[in-house]
Amino acid sequence: MHILLMGPPGAGKGTQAAKLVEEFKIPHISTGDMFRAAVKNQTELGKKAKACMDQGKLVPDDVTIGIVKERLSQDDCQKGFILDGFPRTVEQAKALDKIVAELGLKLTGALNIDVPAKELIERAVGRRICKKCGETYHIRFKVPAKDGICDICGGELYQRADDSEETMKNRLAVYDEQTKPLIKYYKDAGIYKQVDGRQSMDKVYSDVVAVLRG
Ligand code: ADP
Ligand code: AMP
Repeated sequence: MHILLMGPPGAGKGTQAAKLVEEFKIPHISTGDMFRAAVKNQTELGKKAKACMDQGKLVPDDVTIGIVKERLSQDDCQKGFILDGFPRTVEQAKALDKIVAELGLKLTGALNIDVPAKELIERAVGRRICKKCGETYHIRFKVPAKDGICDICGGELYQRADDSEETMKNRLAVYDEQTKPLIKYYKDAGIYKQVDGRQSMDKVYSDVVAVLRG
């Protein structure tokens, strides 16, 4: 199963990807996570990505396509992958088609988690992430048992620098302008699927699985 999780920032892609990984045992590849790790480790890639991320802009296509190509070429992607947050531009989508063809693979589906813009700001601003294991929480919708502490590993929770209301507005504008056209791209390719992301996390997940098994 080689799938793309699409949808605006804060739609629930990472939340659903974590559940899919558990069930289908295929790698979760999030370009956002890869860039955040690079920023943390102060690598050359991290230096290039940081300014764009802080402003809510996209990292340039050539940089992003390069890291995805390298990652998808690894052996564990042959049996499947969940790409989260990539592609985000038509140029990235075209590059992905080429990479996948070169690897002898085929995309199973491009799944859009549909959530209206007005709900996305609250989702992103209230998001908290565990520093240690990466589990995602929300101050209203997925509250940890102990304030600021991960239920799973006891790690400290943090808020992403780009999850402010102001940066989120830029990210949503970038989404509308550069990423939304991918809905038509994948409809034309015949692999577009959609679920209603306003429902509970568990209901979204059962819809995701139903749509993927189609
Ligand atoms: P994305 O990866 O698309 O940016 P996340 O999966 O990190 O989004 O979810 C964004 C925030 O919204 C997180 O704090 C998460 O706990 C919360 N969230 C995810 N799915 C739902 C849902 N169905 N209902 C309410 N909150 C949700
Ligand atoms: P995310 O974790 O998916 O919300 O991504 C966080 C940030 O990383 C984005 O706002 C971009 O700055 C950058 N980023 C992630 N994925 C991509 C991509 N496919 N293309 C360009 N920039 C990206």
